[in-house]
Amino acid sequence: MFEYAPAPESRAIVDLRPSYGLFIDGEFVAGEDLHKTVNPATEEVLAEVVWAGEAEVDRAVRAARTAYEKVWGPMPGRDRAKYLFRIARIIQERSRELAVLESLDNGKPIRESRDVDLPLVAAHFFYYAGWADKLAHAGFGPSPRPLGVAAQVIPWNFPLLMLAWKIAPALAAGNTVVLKPAETTPLTALLFAEICQQADLPAGVVNIVTGAGDTGRALVEHPGVDKVAFTGSTEVGKAIARSVAGTRKKVTLELGGKAANIVFDDAPVDQAVEGIVNGIFFNQGHVCCAGSRLLVQESVAEQVLESLKRRMALLRVGDPLDKNTDIGAINSAEQLARIRELSDAGAAEGAQRWSPPCELPERGFWFAPTIFTGVTQAHRVAREEIFGPVLSVLTFRTPAEAVEKANNTPYGLSAGIWTDKGSRILWMADRLRAGVVWANTFNKFDPTSPFGGYKESGYGREGGRHGLEGYLDV
Ligand code: NAD
Repeated sequence: MFEYAPAPESRAIVDLRPSYGLFIDGEFVAGEDLHKTVNPATEEVLAEVVWAGEAEVDRAVRAARTAYEKVWGPMPGRDRAKYLFRIARIIQERSRELAVLESLDNGKPIRESRDVDLPLVAAHFFYYAGWADKLAHAGFGPSPRPLGVAAQVIPWNFPLLMLAWKIAPALAAGNTVVLKPAETTPLTALLFAEICQQADLPAGVVNIVTGAGDTGRALVEHPGVDKVAFTGSTEVGKAIARSVAGTRKKVTLELGGKAANIVFDDAPVDQAVEGIVNGIFFNQGHVCCAGSRLLVQESVAEQVLESLKRRMALLRVGDPLDKNTDIGAINSAEQLARIRELSDAGAAEGAQRWSPPCELPERGFWFAPTIFTGVTQAHRVAREEIFGPVLSVLTFRTPAEAVEKANNTPYGLSAGIWTDKGSRILWMADRLRAGVVWANTFNKFDPTSPFGGYKESGYGREGGRHGLEGYLDV
């Protein structure tokens, strides 16, 4: 008989321990430097985790090196594939538990962690499992080789998904990894470590070191590392690029964004408004490719804004574990302070701030969905990444003006176009300096598609066949 797990919104599905060690060489290792991780929706302490120091990072890198040389590097691709398929299946089996834990530690609505993050995480492992025995036929030349030990540092906005983007292609290509999750969202990476044990993955192939920036720096700068893969802020990305310059390490960087979501006057308004809402309020706007600048054609601006405000008034902000919630908690007090600071700067600089009436819970970290109108390109809210549920609205008259405004940013991660004209989509996509251009949709992800930035949004691609390239000598 097939047994259904309890409803995903039940916190009871997650069996939290009071504290967690580091995952090194196939085992959980206790440490001294313990730090609390909290549920951002309640400020309740979920567990304590170790912040790894240099000695522990060194141990993890050495374990990864030994596993690379003795086990994983020499293993035929078809055998690596079996492990990746096994991991993918266990993720599916335990997806409700993973989804609840992700929502508890991150604050994102359960509907998103359950229906978006977790299916994509499993899909990534299935997808790259399929590549592991086909590398010689992937157009990389006859004998592409793994790089060795990959140091991977990820942010807090999609903890498990970013882990999957990093670990799945690295292992498929024959590398071993040491991954550091963000300090505010370490728990699903540690549950993933348990899944590696459950899948009998050889010891040392995946190592998880929890900690903050110092742990990340120790990992990235370790001389035993062959590859650095980083997702996070542009500021830290630049520091990492400087620190590995002149070493043998290969680097890929997935950094910030300030995407334009461009609505033309021939777009169906209701559909475009859904796309605008998804573009900026999905995951509380903690999305590198969030459509945080709405560029709307002047002739329909009033109509689109009216409809957008009506739609925003229907958004439910609150308990991430309630499946009716649209917008969950802001991930940390620091991030909330950053969002508030930029939002206040927008108001002080003269843009008009609007939020629907909405009651925010007393405890925890919350920010109401917000739009700014009367925004110019000089305003900070139009230029800086806010990484929260805050949309800046600008207008344009012609497609050329839309392109010019959309590209007027140091970033270049993504863009969206809403129009009925296929020829206009192609014309715009050719001219937008963005790694992804969505047409009549937004925030669509697929493991088969490469994702990554232009300009200060970083370099290298994750996903698809291109995602393997960053983990191979070709
Ligand atoms: P962050 O740069 O502060 O931190 C990211 C990770 O780097 C964390 O694990 C952190 O502990 C670690 N870190 C901090 N300092 C470090 C150092 N000196 N050396 C090594 N590691 C260090 O970013 P954040 O606030 O956690 O995440 C938000 C940012 O991530 C946003 O700018 C967002 O756009 C970006 N992001 C980009 C993508 C993408 O694919 N391009 C995806 C998600 C998030």
